[in-house]
Amino acid sequence: MKITFHGAARTVTGSQHLLEVNGRQILLDCGLYQGKRQEAFQRNRTLPFDATHVDVMVLSHAHIDHSGNIPNLVKSGYKGDIYATFATRDLCGAMLLDSAHIQESDTQFVNKKRSRQGEPPVEPLYTQADATASLRNFHAIDYSRQTQLLPGVSLTYLDAGHMLGSAIVILNIEDRDTNRDLTLVFSGDLGQPGLPILRDPTFVDRADVLLCESTYGDRVHENYGDSEKELERVVIDTYKRGGKLIIPSFAVGRTQEIVYALHKMRSAHKIPHMPIYVDSPLAVNVTSIFALHPEAYDDETRAFILGDKANANLFGFDDLHYTRSVEESKELNFLREPAVIISASGMAEAGRIQHHLANNIEDPRNTILIAGYQAENTLGRKIQDKEPTVKIFGDTYHLKAQVEVITGFSAHADRNGLLNWAGSIKKKPVRTFLVHGEDHALQAYADGLKMQDGFERVDIPDLHQSFTV
Ligand SMILES: [Zn+2]
Repeated sequence: MKITFHGAARTVTGSQHLLEVNGRQILLDCGLYQGKRQEAFQRNRTLPFDATHVDVMVLSHAHIDHSGNIPNLVKSGYKGDIYATFATRDLCGAMLLDSAHIQESDTQFVNKKRSRQGEPPVEPLYTQADATASLRNFHAIDYSRQTQLLPGVSLTYLDAGHMLGSAIVILNIEDRDTNRDLTLVFSGDLGQPGLPILRDPTFVDRADVLLCESTYGDRVHENYGDSEKELERVVIDTYKRGGKLIIPSFAVGRTQEIVYALHKMRSAHKIPHMPIYVDSPLAVNVTSIFALHPEAYDDETRAFILGDKANANLFGFDDLHYTRSVEESKELNFLREPAVIISASGMAEAGRIQHHLANNIEDPRNTILIAGYQAENTLGRKIQDKEPTVKIFGDTYHLKAQVEVITGFSAHADRNGLLNWAGSIKKKPVRTFLVHGEDHALQAYADGLKMQDGFERVDIPDLHQSFTV
């Protein structure tokens, strides 16, 4: 069997791994590489393999860095099935279309510039029509249902606890070249145990070959329970000042987690009555998909829903309002009383959150809550670093609002979570490949694994590097 790492190799984006076994090709994930525009454009457009030669694709979860190049794969001639859990398939329905919309508007912007410079226009990576067409290749299966992918190769999904629908991929392979049966485990992205809504990552009995994510291989998170208490304090403090709480939030996952946390606080009368707005069309669509998939919830969440009729809708309660239209969103500018506004994007680089920040950043009664990872040079990072002035839509604003940072909402397992999960594998892998991490995280995680019994051979692949196992 041969494995080639075509993405998420020494970086955290563009997850794409190609297996060749028994003369067939299996693609694990087909993510978008996210980076500087020009480089990302080239890398995503030119697939590093022939799409028409791939026999089957297996998707771990719906995040765009794992699923976002699927429309391009299908456009490039891929005819096979794309396996996913039911929730992942439904999330892709919303997220791939949203991604296509971003590709189209980005290309429009680039083409305006090109036409001024007398250069010919470029085509978007894919369009909304391409994204829609690619959804026809999806084949959904539930967790723990072993399914034959190809002769001699079967797939089982287990809970990864990272986002709705996220899965660990187990491939049972009869390798005819070596006449061996082997189990390949691909962790996808692993969640932190104890996160709300989702079940914890499943422990695995056997892995002969392990592909494991390493995002936080070098860091330990704040406890989730403490983060909920912090959120409660921030809501109350902001209310007492008569201010507004502005939360830049990823539309998928983080928004639903925060809404659920606020729902629990509200139903336990821990926070005062105040309007709470979710202002992001994608978040609104995705929240309705969460509501369709109770099969993916953990026991605590089910108990909360069943415990009280008022809790029947996990993401709906008296003070909560979802805004879709631009008009509704603009009306929030005229709010004078305390309120919570949750809006995308998570790093405040695009979307409606920028309007809310521009409107509220100069009032010291308000709070901006940073509840997710903020990459360097983003507006979210500048606010997190409390830079005295920031630019929004080209204008300079003075940062006078309070800034609070909560780290425990992370959807990725931290170093302890990763080591514990891999360490619990009963039959340890002969080969381990670490993907989806920056260099220092990969190295720290590799060192941690090597100190445990059983992980003799741990590799950190380079981009496009192949291994025969
Ligand atoms: Zn992910």
